[in-house]
Amino acid sequence: MAVTSVKSENPSKGIQEPAANDVVQQFEPLKPLAGPKIIVIGSGPVGMRFVEDVLKRKQNANITMFGGEGTQPYNRIQLSSLLAGEAKYEDILNTLPDEQRHTGFQHIPANVEVVFSKEKYVVDQQGNRYDYDKLVFATGSRPHVPDIPGVDQTGVYTFRNLKDAEALSARIWRSRHIVVVGGGLLGLEAARALTRFNTKVTLIQQGPWLMNRQLDEKAATLLKNSIENKGIEVITESGVRNILGEGRVTGVVTRDKTEIECDTVLLCAGIKPNMELARDANIKVANAIMVDDQLQTSEPNVFAIGECCEHRGLTYGLVNPGFEQAAVAANVIANGSASYLGSLEVSRLKVAGEYVCSMGPIDNLPKRPFQSEYTYTNKKAGIYRKIVLYKGRIYAATGFGEWPESRRIQEAYQQGRRVYPWQVLRFILTGTIWGVGSSNNIKTWSAETHVCQCKGVSLGELTVHMEQGATSVAALQDKTQAGTVCGSCKPLLQELVGDTTPMEKDSTWGSLLGFSVVALAIACLILYLPAAQVADSVFDQGWYEMIWNDHFYKQVTGFTLLGLSVIGLLMSMQKRLSFNWLGQYKYLRVLHVFLGLACAGVLLLHTGMHLGENLNFYLMADFLGVIILGSLAAGVVAISHHMKAKQAMKLRSFWRWLHVLITWPLPILLAFHVLSVYYY
Ligand SMILES: Cc1cc2nc3c(=O)[nH]c(=O)nc-3n(C[C@H](O)[C@H](O)[C@H](O)COP(=O)(O)OP(=O)(O)OC[C@H]3O[C@@H](n4cnc5c(N)ncnc54)[C@H](O)[C@@H]3O)c2cc1C
Repeated sequence: MAVTSVKSENPSKGIQEPAANDVVQQFEPLKPLAGPKIIVIGSGPVGMRFVEDVLKRKQNANITMFGGEGTQPYNRIQLSSLLAGEAKYEDILNTLPDEQRHTGFQHIPANVEVVFSKEKYVVDQQGNRYDYDKLVFATGSRPHVPDIPGVDQTGVYTFRNLKDAEALSARIWRSRHIVVVGGGLLGLEAARALTRFNTKVTLIQQGPWLMNRQLDEKAATLLKNSIENKGIEVITESGVRNILGEGRVTGVVTRDKTEIECDTVLLCAGIKPNMELARDANIKVANAIMVDDQLQTSEPNVFAIGECCEHRGLTYGLVNPGFEQAAVAANVIANGSASYLGSLEVSRLKVAGEYVCSMGPIDNLPKRPFQSEYTYTNKKAGIYRKIVLYKGRIYAATGFGEWPESRRIQEAYQQGRRVYPWQVLRFILTGTIWGVGSSNNIKTWSAETHVCQCKGVSLGELTVHMEQGATSVAALQDKTQAGTVCGSCKPLLQELVGDTTPMEKDSTWGSLLGFSVVALAIACLILYLPAAQVADSVFDQGWYEMIWNDHFYKQVTGFTLLGLSVIGLLMSMQKRLSFNWLGQYKYLRVLHVFLGLACAGVLLLHTGMHLGENLNFYLMADFLGVIILGSLAAGVVAISHHMKAKQAMKLRSFWRWLHVLITWPLPILLAFHVLSVYYY
């Protein structure tokens, strides 16, 4: 019997015509159902997303979704919160599409037992037959149960669905020691949730470190430390070889033959795609149901999405790839031309209360030319970040701890955006690629994020003071000292308190502007004026020519230049080295710009505007670059009060970083120059 999709069908009773007083009758006459008859097997997150995508296109699409768990669909990802007691059953339920609005939709909480793909119908667990035009497998997966001796005893659990969560919730009341097998995302989440009643938990991971597919060793070590601080014992590079007990678990034996006493074993050792239903319908399977770029299986009009499908040899164990597949399948079924080319491996997760982030093949990074890795570590804040660039674009990234830029990095990774050398430099020094001010709205940052790097003031600290009445920039500066050193975070403070006035005029702006303009002019003179001519005979030399020709004067100007450069370089590190005792930052900044001006003058005397050759040419080019970009950076600071705070901050940051970047080769080039003059 073919099922017509009418509102009042009762799954447990098969097909019924709507009763005269059925709720359907209280609404406008039903619109004819649109499009093909679609059946979705599986009401997990991916099946649900597919249904939503179809209904967004056609409100009255003819679509029936089967859910084999016999419950209202729920958010599987939140099962660990349920187990930990942080969420209630009602909190994790997914809202089904409104059947009054979407008159062609129905949810049948039953298992599909057989698929007849040639005849195009399915039969559910009650033996009811449902015809389809398009069939979508979204059957997900189930836990992989490793073949360990003793695995079938009472006290061995898995964690995948609501029933598992309920069984485990009941178990933790009685359990004294639980061994969790598997140090991936699921094992870690479960381990954290199981400590709820001070139950002893030991986590055993076969791989070399925790989450070894997503994290590198350093990030995993930080995660391990954090997990251990929560009272969970972690054993890596081991595995359970034997589960002890006589019908009831009494312990486990690890790979190195250590015996651990326990009464419960939780297996979180991977997943197995639910593909048997498809295989029995003669649909091609390998490790999962095989699909092409349109998510079509080997059978026409049959699709597979989510954890049950294998696309180009890959099956994903995360929810986002499934969502992407759902969108493509919905498009294809609506006669669209979308293709699925695979998902990038991205996980930005909160695991056992800690933020971890992973993009790209972290566990399998090739070694090749044009690939480089950069890391940033802040031990105090418990932060570790790593980016891997290939030909200047993000190829992979991993990290532990808050990473406010991770969303933007994900976008750059997915779009293949270029990361420029100065951004790499900034990442190495500060852990941000685009600078603190550029990553979205400050109010969305995490409480631990440092707003003022100079004084180490976090957003959380500032928020506390704001709650206590410090609602202006001046009040926040007074309470926390934030923004009182270099002032570059002042626009952030302004943003925080909702102050939209332009930046305040700095009392030193005139000197900054004056010095920078003169320094810039000297640098341009050196660049554009012809080099001073050397007289043919010493007798014809003017007195001034001695300055760049006489060995003694050359040494004087040379060493002066060297001294000024060293002081300038040290001063530029003032923020990093916290030389606050030298005086107020704004005066030091003026002094720094003045030194730049002095350098420009002495450079003119030392070289006589000769640009030099080979190494000397590079040194000269770099020196001039440092002066020009430094002058521009200082100029922007000087005129910041004419700009909006955020715009000023961006410009200041941009020019400052260019100046810093070009300064890097200077010490090396200077060292070579001195060596070449005195050694050769
Ligand atoms: C505790 C936990 C935490 C997780 N945390 C994260 C996370 O933080 N981030 C992340 O990306 N992923 C996470 N995951 C993984 C994520 O839940 C899965 O990637 C996602 O659920 C896959 O969705 P799916 O719809 O393909 O499959 P499933 O969620 O497995 O849904 C498939 C559904 O189909 C049903 N079904 C199967 N066969 C039939 C049949 N014959 N008839 C009818 N119905 C059938 C099943 O009963 C099931 O309800 C977590 C998983 C767990 C268990």
